[in-house]
Amino acid sequence: MKKKVLSNLSPKQLRQHLDSKKRNANVKTISESISKENPTLGEFIMRHKLDKSLFFDANKNQISSVYGQMIKQGKQFAYNTIPCYQGHTYRDRKNHCLICNTSRITFQLRNSSEGFVYIAGSVRKRMMKIGVTDKIFSRESSLNKSGYADTDDWKILYWFYSEKIGEIENEVKSKLKVHNTLVPFLKYSKEHKIAEEVFFCGFDRIFTALKGVIHDNGIAISQELLKSDHISSYQFRNWVKLKK
Ligand SMILES: [Zn+2]
Repeated sequence: MKKKVLSNLSPKQLRQHLDSKKRNANVKTISESISKENPTLGEFIMRHKLDKSLFFDANKNQISSVYGQMIKQGKQFAYNTIPCYQGHTYRDRKNHCLICNTSRITFQLRNSSEGFVYIAGSVRKRMMKIGVTDKIFSRESSLNKSGYADTDDWKILYWFYSEKIGEIENEVKSKLKVHNTLVPFLKYSKEHKIAEEVFFCGFDRIFTALKGVIHDNGIAISQELLKSDHISSYQFRNWVKLKK
């Protein structure tokens, strides 16, 4: 963009220039103030290795008016928000712009997450799932009671405890994206839901991805448990999603 050198302008020109800037600022609408550098949701989640399931569509509302829904749905971030003064439309639940201040992403994920990461499998559906929970000992039965991804034969095969579970889960999901699928189901046989954390791959594939993320990021884990007697029943084929 060509910039006017203000010191070269006559006082009259300078006044006109400043007046026109002021006028423009006043008539700017929200859509005009959205920055050209504002990425699409796809670009944004790719850039930061995040998962789409973390994002809430704010539909141009203030964070304060969608905050309750975000909490309820476990959404860490919102897109399509009211633009910040730079014109970006991504914010965290505390209304910080995620582009002006990228560290908010890690901060939010780190802060919001300590607990267990687990890998579960369903023989009936030949699917794997990765998830996080703070109640590892009741998670298997709660998955099955809820009918998660339309089945009730989930078995938790591996888990560990960490203080950074948000980051781990998102990185693994991003690594396994080609096996990811969305499965609609009726939660507790009454509420329509979509299972987003399921993968058409075998135990070894998801386990290797998870171990890789732990290793690459030097993440400290504890209370690790692998049900090695069971995993042979969960070595499903690794189906890869075709690009549309
Ligand atoms: Zn911004």
